[in-house]
Amino acid sequence: MSVVDARLPQVNVFRDSRPEPAAAREARPRPATGLRARLAELRGPGVPPRPLDARALAALAANPGCRRRALLDGAGVDKAALARALGSPAPFGQSQFAIARGHSFEARVKADGGAELIRLAAEHLGGGAQAPEPGAAATPDLSAAGPQGRAARTALALREAAARGGWTLLDHPMLALDVAGSPAYLEPDAVVVRPDGLWSVIEIKSFPMIDGTADTAKVGAAARQSAVYALALEQVAEQVARHTPEGEGHAPRVGDRALLVCPKDFSNLPAAAPVDLRKQLATTRRQLARLTRVDELAAALPEDTTFDLRLADDGKTATRPAEELTEAVESVGAAYAPECLAACELAFHCRGRAREAGLVESLGRGVRGELGGLRTVGEVLAAASGPADGERTPPDPAGAHATDDDPAAEALRRAAALRAEALAAASAPVPAQAPAPREEAECR
Ligand code: SF4
Repeated sequence: MSVVDARLPQVNVFRDSRPEPAAAREARPRPATGLRARLAELRGPGVPPRPLDARALAALAANPGCRRRALLDGAGVDKAALARALGSPAPFGQSQFAIARGHSFEARVKADGGAELIRLAAEHLGGGAQAPEPGAAATPDLSAAGPQGRAARTALALREAAARGGWTLLDHPMLALDVAGSPAYLEPDAVVVRPDGLWSVIEIKSFPMIDGTADTAKVGAAARQSAVYALALEQVAEQVARHTPEGEGHAPRVGDRALLVCPKDFSNLPAAAPVDLRKQLATTRRQLARLTRVDELAAALPEDTTFDLRLADDGKTATRPAEELTEAVESVGAAYAPECLAACELAFHCRGRAREAGLVESLGRGVRGELGGLRTVGEVLAAASGPADGERTPPDPAGAHATDDDPAAEALRRAAALRAEALAAASAPVPAQAPAPREEAECR
C-alpha cells in the first residue's frame, strides 16, 4: 500500500463562529497530511513506504484481528528488515532462481501479443465466445507515470474495452484497492476482457500443473491473490459503470473465476485451468472490511513511537537497539496464530512473545477457541487442577475470564482426572501370574 498517497479523510466543517471546544478539537481526526507525516515518522526519516502487493493483502485479510500487521503494512514499514533488527528473521520470499524461471515462463506465455494467453482464456473462460484471430485482440499500452497514473490509464483502457466489445488483454494493469482507508496499488499478471464485457484475472505461476492438477496449497494461495485483484477490479467496474452512459457498450462485470496458467507437466509449455474465486472473494471482502483504519491505529500509539531502524550508511545495517524496537513493536497489539509462520515476516518474533507470555494463541486458533475465557497456559493448568475447597471463583459478570463453572474449565478437570486415573492404572503393580498347571501327560 502506498501510504504516501493515503486518501484524505472527510473533514467536518464547523459553521458555528464560537471557539471550538477543546474536547471536540481533540476528537477531530487528524488531517491526512498529519497522518502522512505520522506514518513517515513511523518508518523513519527518508525511508520510502514499502508497497503492499496482493500476496501481502491476502495475508493481511487472513488475520484481520492483528492491529500490529495492519499498522506496519499501512505505514509501509519493511517488516522483513524489522524482524532482522529484532533478532527474529523469518526466511521469506522466493529464491532468485524461482523468480528468474517465473519471469521467463511469463514472457513466453505473453509472446506474440499474448495470442496463446487469449486462446487459453477463450477456451476456459470464454463462455462460448470464439477466440480472436492472432493479433486481433486489443492490447492497450498502459504505461504512465507513477502508480496513480497507471491505475488511471488502466481504468480508461477497461472503459474503452467495455465500449468497443471484442477481446482485450491488459498486460500488467495497475489497480487501486481501498484498504483500511488508504489505496493499495496492485498489479496482476494480466486481465482479459471478453467480448460481452466480462473482466477476468489471469495469474501466471511457475509451479507445474501435472496431468491438469497443481499443488493444492499453491493453488489456494493463487486463488486468494486473485480474489484481491478481483475486488480491486470490482471497484474499477463500479467507477466505469457510473461514467458510462446507459445503453453504451457492455455493462462491465468482474468474473468470479480466474485463469491460472502454469507450466504443463515439467515442460515450458503453458497449461491453464479456471479457479473458482467465490469463497475467497466473500472471505477477503469480509476480512478487509474488518481491518481497523490506519489512522485510528496510529492515533492510539504513544506519541514518540517509531519503527525507525536507524540504518547505517550502507542502508542495510540497523543501529537501533533491539530493546527499543521491541518496545515500539509491543506497543501495538498482535493476534498471533501458527498460520502467521507462513504469512508474516514478524512471525518468529510474535511467536516468541506469545510463548513467553504463555498465551494459548500459540497453540492454534482451534485450541484458543475451545479454551473460551482461559487466556494463558498457566490459567489452563490451574483450571485443570481445579479450585481448592472454598476457593471457587465467583462468576464473571462480563464473561471475560473463565470461572470454575466454565464448560472449558469443567472439561479440563474431567480430562485431568481421566489422565490421572490412566497414569495410576499404568503405574499400579501388575499382580503376579499364578503358575500355569502342569499338563498331565495324556499318554504315559
Ligand atoms: S506474525 Fe505478528 S504481526 Fe504478523 S500477523 Fe501474526 S501476530 Fe500479526
